[in-house]
Amino acid sequence: MGKIQLQGVRKVFGQVTVIPGVDLTVDDGSFVVFVGPSGCGKSTLLRLIAGLEDVSGGHIFIDGRDVAGLPAAQRGLSMVFQSYALYPHMTVRGNIGFGLKMAGTPKAEIARKVEAAAATLNLTPYLERKPGQLSGGQRQRVAIGRAIVREPKAFLFDEPLSNLDAALRVQMRLEISRLQKDLGTTAIYVTHDQVEAMTMADRIVVLNQGNVEQVGSPIELYERPNSLFVAGFIGSPQ
Ligand code: ADP
Ligand code: MG
Repeated sequence: MGKIQLQGVRKVFGQVTVIPGVDLTVDDGSFVVFVGPSGCGKSTLLRLIAGLEDVSGGHIFIDGRDVAGLPAAQRGLSMVFQSYALYPHMTVRGNIGFGLKMAGTPKAEIARKVEAAAATLNLTPYLERKPGQLSGGQRQRVAIGRAIVREPKAFLFDEPLSNLDAALRVQMRLEISRLQKDLGTTAIYVTHDQVEAMTMADRIVVLNQGNVEQVGSPIELYERPNSLFVAGFIGSPQ
C-alpha cells in the first residue's frame, strides 16, 4: 500500500509563502511526476511529504493515516538522492545496507536483502567496491538500492538524474520506470525536465509558484493544457 493524500498543504519560510495550499491524491502504485520551473516548490513539497520539513498548515495522509508530527523515519517512505549522496568510504554493500543497519535489522537479514536488491539492480559484481570505483550509472543504482532495500510504501525522487550525462539519463529513466512497475511501489518523482516527466509519469502534476496548475496523464496535458503556463511548459522542447 502507498496512497498519499495532501489536503490544503501549506509551507511558509519566514515571510515567504512557498506553498500556498496544495490538494492532491497520489494513487497506490502510481508513478507521479512533479514538474515545474526551478524555484516553484517541487523539492519543498517532496520534503514535506517525506517529513524532512514540517507543514505550516494542512494535512498529509499516507494510507489514510495523518502523518503530522510523524518523523521521516517512521513514514515508510524512501528518498532517492543524487548518486553523490553516497558514503564514499563505505562499500556498495555498506551503502545499500546502511538504513537497515541503523534500524537495527539483524545482520543475516541485511545481507539477504542487500544481495536481493543488488541482483535486481545488476550490482552483484560490485558489492565490495566503493562508490569511487563505480561508473555514474552504477552509483545511481546504488542510491536506488539504498531506497528499495527498505521496502518503502513509496519512493520519493528529487531530480535523481540531474548530474548524469544525457545518454545515461535516458537509460536510467527507463531503468527507474521498469523497476517501479516491477515492484509496484508508488513513486513521486520531482524534475524540472519536461521530457523526463512526459516519458516516465502515469500522472503529471504541474507546479507554478507552489500551486498545482494541472494534474493529468502526459497525453491529457499535451492535448488539453488548461493554461498557457502548462502549454508553454509541456510543449517547449528541452
Ligand atoms: P524547486 O525544487 O522547485 O526548485 P524549492 O522547493 O527548492 O524549489 O524552493 C521553492 C522556494 O522556496 C524557493 O524560492 C526557495 O528559495 C525557497 N526555499 C526553499 N527552502 C527554503 C528554506 N529552507 N528557507 C527559505 N526559503 C526556502
Ligand atoms: Mg528542487
